[in-house]
Parts: sequence; structure tokens; C-alpha cells
Amino acid sequence: MKQGYFAIIATLLLGACSLPSQRSTSNKVVCTTGIIADAVQELLKGQDSIRVSALMGPGVDPHLYKASQGDIKKLMDADLIIYNGLHLEGKMNELFGKMQQHNKLAAAEAIPKERLINSSNFASAYDPHVWFDLELWAIAVAAMADKLQEQYPALASKIGENEESYLKEINNLHDTLSKIVLQVAQKQRVLITAHDAFEYFGRQYGFQVRGLQGISTSSEYGIRDVSNLAQFVHQQGIKAIFIESSIPKRAIKAVQAAVQELGGSVNLGGELYSDALGSADGPAGTYLGMVRTNTNTIVEALK
Ligand SMILES: [Zn+2]
Repeated sequence: MKQGYFAIIATLLLGACSLPSQRSTSNKVVCTTGIIADAVQELLKGQDSIRVSALMGPGVDPHLYKASQGDIKKLMDADLIIYNGLHLEGKMNELFGKMQQHNKLAAAEAIPKERLINSSNFASAYDPHVWFDLELWAIAVAAMADKLQEQYPALASKIGENEESYLKEINNLHDTLSKIVLQVAQKQRVLITAHDAFEYFGRQYGFQVRGLQGISTSSEYGIRDVSNLAQFVHQQGIKAIFIESSIPKRAIKAVQAAVQELGGSVNLGGELYSDALGSADGPAGTYLGMVRTNTNTIVEALK
């Protein structure tokens, strides 16, 4: 779609929405990523009067995602918008900036700054992939619960109960993962993927993380990045490198080919879900399922 036309539509919709009488009366929470929508669904479990939707489906890259005309309408129509923030949704910042009067929450920005990983790749100066640290994600989930309780006070106690049980599940999974990763020898705990989505996972479970593309997928990688990474893989004797569901596979396959040229070999360890959930009916269709699936994939390939 042409940029100018798009901007006009956005302006019209923004204008229309400032009239409260034109807002839909049904309750809607609109989230950017499926990871966030999954948390909101858990918090609103049993509350059928509220519709929860995600703009980005399985396999969608949030760094590059641009809101469509339909998305803008959905956002305008929402009671509450929940997004990750920390510039994860890099192409939507301008739009969110224009939606001053709208009720919004940047869930990851509720996490104390000193617990975030610094990154010069984002205007926020922090790595936005906080969901791979389960303790940090629990803080974001708690912030979502607070915001939902504020928005729907009649449901506050039910949301509070859901929050308590969901946070317990997150905590239990963290305990499980801490044990599973011990199957991988310390020397083999190196996680190589197309982009640096797993720094939080690495910090939490003791993996060194190397990405080809830097933290955002919008930065390009070059031949030198491929050959540097291939040399590292070869020298360290790393067993497997990983593709990601929301990133084209060619980047990581180029590294595999370069390792072969050096006379070595490295396996493709399988597909990791980094910035998007898997399909709704698959094992990675929920946040907890995605994290569990990833960890199993990593451990099976590197142990
Ligand atoms: Zn990412």
C-alpha cells in the first residue's frame, strides 16, 4: 500500500475515534504479538464477554511488522491495547505515539530497567525479547493483570485468581527448565541462531548466545558475519545451530555451508520459536508451550 494513502487512512481513523459515541460497545483487548495475547487470555480465562486478539500471527516478525488498515481500525476500536514495547514493534512506534488518548500498556516496559539487557540496536537501549527470561515475563504478566483489573473492575477478583495460578505455572516451568538444561555440558552451551533473540534465555540458563543478525532482524548481515560465525562454530566444535520460525532460513544455512567449507560440519538443530508463537493447535501454540518446545529442541540438539 502506498505510504501517503496509508497515512490519510490512519489520520481519518484517529480522528473518528476521538468521538466516544462512535466506539463499539463490546469489550476488546487488542495485543500486538501472540505471546502477549496468550498471557491476556490466561488472565481473562472464563471471561467470555471480553474479546482478545493479536495482530501478529504465527511466524510473523514483529521487528518488521507494519500495521495494516484493518489493524489500525482494530486498535482504534479497542478498550485496551497491550504491546511489548522497548521498540520490539519498531515499525509501529509512530502509530502508538499518535494514539495519545488511547488506553495502552507496554508490558515489557514495566520491568525495572536494571534487570534488562542493554543493547545499542534499539532506540530504547534495551533488548526487547524479555519473554525468554521467565522471571522477567512474570513481571510483565503482573503489569498486564493490573491494567486489566483497572479496565474491568467488576472482574478484578477473577483476574487476580487467574494471575496467581498463571504466575505459578510460569514459575514451575522455570524450575523445570533449570533442570533440563543441565543435560547439556557446559562447553556445549552455545546457542547460535539467525538473530539475537535468546540473550535473556542465555543469561538465565547459562548459554552463550551468538546471532548472525544482531538483535533486530532489520539489520543486515554480511559475508564477513557468516564467515566469522562459521569459524567460531568450527573452532568450538559446536554440534548444532538453529533456525527460527519468524526469520528466513537462508541466513543460518549459509553458516552451515561455510562450516563445511572449512572442513567441518554442524547440524541444523531444529526450529526455534523466537518472536512468534507456533500454530494454535501445535505444541508451541502457547507461551509456556513455546518456551518448553524451544528448550527441548536446544537440549536434544546440544546434549
Ligand atoms: Zn527479535
